Amino acid sequence: MNGRRPAADLVVSGAGELVAPDPARPGLVRREKDGMLAVSGDRILAAGPRGRVERDVDVSAAEMVDAAGGLLVPGFVDCHTHLLFGGSRSREYVVRLGGDPAALEALGATTGIAATVEMTRAASDEELLVAAAARLDAMLAQGTTTAESKTGYGLSIEQELRLLRLNRRLDATHDLDVVSTLMAAHAFPPDPGDTGADRWVDEIVDQIVPAAAELGAEFNDVYCDEGYFSVEQARRVLEAGAAAGLAPKIHADQYARIGAGRLAAELGVVSADHLNRTNDEELGALASAGVVGVLMPLIDFAVAHPSAVDARPWVRVGLTIGLATDLCPGGWAVSMPLAMQFACRVSGLTPDEALWASTAGGAAAVLRDDRGAFEPGYLADAVVIDVPSLDELIYRIGHAPVRWVMKRGRVVEGR
Ligand code: FE
Repeated sequence: MNGRRPAADLVVSGAGELVAPDPARPGLVRREKDGMLAVSGDRILAAGPRGRVERDVDVSAAEMVDAAGGLLVPGFVDCHTHLLFGGSRSREYVVRLGGDPAALEALGATTGIAATVEMTRAASDEELLVAAAARLDAMLAQGTTTAESKTGYGLSIEQELRLLRLNRRLDATHDLDVVSTLMAAHAFPPDPGDTGADRWVDEIVDQIVPAAAELGAEFNDVYCDEGYFSVEQARRVLEAGAAAGLAPKIHADQYARIGAGRLAAELGVVSADHLNRTNDEELGALASAGVVGVLMPLIDFAVAHPSAVDARPWVRVGLTIGLATDLCPGGWAVSMPLAMQFACRVSGLTPDEALWASTAGGAAAVLRDDRGAFEPGYLADAVVIDVPSLDELIYRIGHAPVRWVMKRGRVVEGR
C-alpha cells in the first residue's frame, strides 16, 4: 500500500440531493444530502458522502463545480426512441385529438407510419440529420446523455441502410451517445406492387440484417402485434439478427396479446417494450429470462392508450425496468424527467424506481454496463436539475429546469 489516492480533476458538490442508483439491484438508489461526485477525465472516481469521497480521492487540485442545492443524478439513458424521421405529423396528431374518423380521413390517404415513411424517403440526408440533431439537442437539454435510435421509416433495403448510416453520423457528431437499432420490421412497406408480408421478412432476413452490423447497428427490433409482424415472422427476424450479431429487442403486446411476450421470454431478448397487454404469468417468464421491460408512459398518453401500463405487477414479479420516452412522429416526447413523473403518477413506480429505470435500467436495456450509475470507472455522465430533491422532481409536474449536463466529464449543456 503506497497510500496514494487517485486524483480528481473535477469535483461536484453542494447538491441538495445526490442520487446514485445501484446497478446490481433494480429499483434501489442511495440518496445523499451532502454528496460529492469526483471525476477524472471521462470517468467517475467516486460518488457518495462528501467525507468518504474526500478520504478516498485527492481533490486538492480538482476544479470545483457547485451544484447549488440542485438534484445531482446520472445522465439519463433513453433506451427506446424513433428519433430519425422526416416531416411532422402535428396536423394528424391534432386531428386525432378531436376523435373524429371523418376528419382523419379528410387528411388524405396516408397517416401513421406510412405517412412518415413517405416524408422520410423524400427528405435528404442533410434534412434528416438536422431534424434528428435538433431532437437530440432537446433531449440533452433535459438531461439525456445516451439515446437509442431505431430505423423503421425507410422500409426498403436502401432506405433502411441509409438510416443506419445516418444513426452512425449522429453518434459521431453529437455530444449524446447514439445507440443504433435496426427496425426494418417496424411495419410492412407501403409500396404498391409489394408481394406481401413474408417477402419483406425475407428481404430483412436475407439482405438487410447481414448488412446492418457493418453499418454500426447493435440491436434488431421488431413490432410484433396484431396487424404487424406475427410471432413466427418476429421469430425469423430476431433469430436472423442474433446470428448476425445483432442483439434482439421487441415491441410486444402493445395492443393485442398474440404471444409476443412469450416469444420474448423464450428468445431471451435484451428488452421487451410496451407490454400493455402482457399478463402476470408472461411478466414472470420475462423476469426469469432476464429480459428488461421497457416502460413508456408518455406514448400511452400521446395515443390515449385504452390500457396505460400499470408497472406495479412488473415490480412484483421482479422484472428489471427501463424507462424511455418513445420519441416518435406519433408522440413527440423528449423529456426523461416528464417520463419519470408519469411513471410514478400513472404507472405506479416510486421515485426511486423511476430514477433507477431512467438511468441504470435504460443502460441495461441497451447493454451499456459503463453508465447509468455513479460507480467508479463509469462514464462521467451527470445532470444537475434545479430542484432540491428527487421527491420534488417527481412532484413538480412538467418542471425540470436543467442547470447543466456533463457528458464524459465535460459540461456540454448549461453554465
Ligand atoms: Fe417504439
